[in-house]
Amino acid sequence: MSDEIFVRKNVRKILKDEKEKSELIKAFIRLKETGKYDRYVIWHAQTMGTMVQITGEDTRRNAAHWGPIFLPWHREFLHKFELDLGVALPYWDWTEDVLNPMASPIWRDDFMGGNGNPANDYVVFKGPFGSEQLKWPTIEANDYGNPVGNTELNANPNIPLSDYTNGSLTRFFTLCYLEPRCAGTGGVNPGLPKSIDVDNALATSPYDSSPWDDSSSQSQSFRMRLENRPHGGVHIWVGGHMLTNTSPNDPLFFLHHSNIDRIWVEWQNDISRRTEPQKWYPPHGTITFPDGSIIHGHNRNDHMTPWGTNGNNIEMVLNHHNLKYKYE
Ligand code: ZN
Ligand code: ZN
Repeated sequence: MSDEIFVRKNVRKILKDEKEKSELIKAFIRLKETGKYDRYVIWHAQTMGTMVQITGEDTRRNAAHWGPIFLPWHREFLHKFELDLGVALPYWDWTEDVLNPMASPIWRDDFMGGNGNPANDYVVFKGPFGSEQLKWPTIEANDYGNPVGNTELNANPNIPLSDYTNGSLTRFFTLCYLEPRCAGTGGVNPGLPKSIDVDNALATSPYDSSPWDDSSSQSQSFRMRLENRPHGGVHIWVGGHMLTNTSPNDPLFFLHHSNIDRIWVEWQNDISRRTEPQKWYPPHGTITFPDGSIIHGHNRNDHMTPWGTNGNNIEMVLNHHNLKYKYE
């Protein structure tokens, strides 16, 4: 196990192999049964509740999103998850489904299941994660990332989460585009992101730029260009849990973020950057607020919330080969 390299494949390939497909699903269910899966959901919600701002700032920057740490944090998150899962995470290249997203093979009843039922609060019914199977009770969190009904979690991170898993997985394909809160996040084209969106991101340098948040210029920040439209666009298109701080409740989260990470690898492997890892992330100490003070948590040698020294720091995950996985 220790020398094993996880090979992350295109999910379409997994779907053609009955054995690989069922092993992946079984691994998800197994991790859910141990209670470890829900820990990941809560970790994600906790980072979203950890805002990283100074007084007077109006940004969405938190401990894992809308700032330079977005890509390293999700890389570490997936890496930890993959080790617990014991199986390589496939990636969902959604550009292959642009023409007819609803018909994507990933929505098959024996895989991710499909859309939620509008007559039942958009709950997903079919599939291994659907409510008919009773194997996938979801966990909800408040704005601070605490499981709803549990205010003790931050004080004691080892409290079992099983008492708080009582929801059902939801999705509402395309509907968020009809809501005001999704305006400006790709509403001009309410489809899945296209190849051109990915190509535009891949052509963007440097990695990120001041003010290091959700207002960084799309033409001056690869991170912003990827995080906003391709990344956010998929969360918005799928809807339901994917729109919330507990988005990892949907197993699709991991297939989507595997693809986002793959695009980052591709960007890092560009001929102009391959031999210059200093281009992969700004030097430590250079990510600062407008007043010049350090933005703690987003700088290159910083450890990440909520793992601290129980996980890698940003610098250690910049080269994904260190984490023993690769993309096929
Ligand atoms: Zn996230
Ligand atoms: Zn995401």
